[in-house]
Amino acid sequence: MGRLRGKVAIVTGGGGGIGGATSARFAREGAKVAVLDRNLQAAEAVAARIREAGGEALALACDITDRKSVDAAVAEVGAKLGPIDVLVNNAGWDVFLPFTKTQPEQWDKLIAINLVGALHMHHAVLPSMVERRGGRIVNIASDAARVGSSGEAVYAACKGGLVAFSKTLAREHSRHGITVNVVCPGPTDTALFADYKQGAGNPEKLEEAFRRSIPLGRIGQPDDLPGAILFFASDDAAFVTGQVLSVSGG
Ligand code: NAD
Repeated sequence: MGRLRGKVAIVTGGGGGIGGATSARFAREGAKVAVLDRNLQAAEAVAARIREAGGEALALACDITDRKSVDAAVAEVGAKLGPIDVLVNNAGWDVFLPFTKTQPEQWDKLIAINLVGALHMHHAVLPSMVERRGGRIVNIASDAARVGSSGEAVYAACKGGLVAFSKTLAREHSRHGITVNVVCPGPTDTALFADYKQGAGNPEKLEEAFRRSIPLGRIGQPDDLPGAILFFASDDAAFVTGQVLSVSGG
């Protein structure tokens, strides 16, 4: 406990499965958590649970594809919680179709959320981290970027891009004391995974196939992720940057 005491952390997609679990864990570790999500109700529910447990949290509506929305949210976090120490780029979205059945409009939306959205967040938060000579950025990619995943070609390309972007930023900002690392979830039991299973047509069969392919023998739960994200966000990882860690059951 207390590994983020007094730190200000932003979690995008904080109203979702992995983002909600991460926000709660960060708050238990003493962080003031800004829970950003395009779904304000979901963000508010997460922030309310944190406050009920005695933590500090601020819920904000933020669409990461819209630079004005990002700038407004980042400014409000700075004004209400203080300078940002930790950024977790976790918001994401997917469509589950063989590539030849996807349409360019879907590519645009996938790229806007999974890649450009993260760029907006970095661009908005980095200047103050540079000025303060420190910060921790954790980007949530996917094992789809590492090993591929049928029905997720464009999503995987975005997440692969996010990995390359993170490694490059890690180099650019090492001299400012800013670390940039990546966590890659495998199949994890959230709304996004439920949509994936539906899109694939036979949810039970798909889940069983995934389960059999995972060495540790089960689908991940949202609470499986925050430990790795916390590691990169904390001073335990002060000498770790540009790294990619899969949290996927093997
Ligand atoms: P989730 O659907 O529970 O949460 C995603 C959250 O992102 C939602 O609350 C949603 O409202 C928010 N969001 C989407 N678009 C947004 C936007 N434009 N602006 C702001 N918020 C937006 O899904 P999750 O599984 O918790 O996903 C978290 C991250 O983990 C994502 O980046 C996802 O790609 C990644 N991931 C998930 C899995 C999995 O199996 N669940 C596997 C690999 C990677």
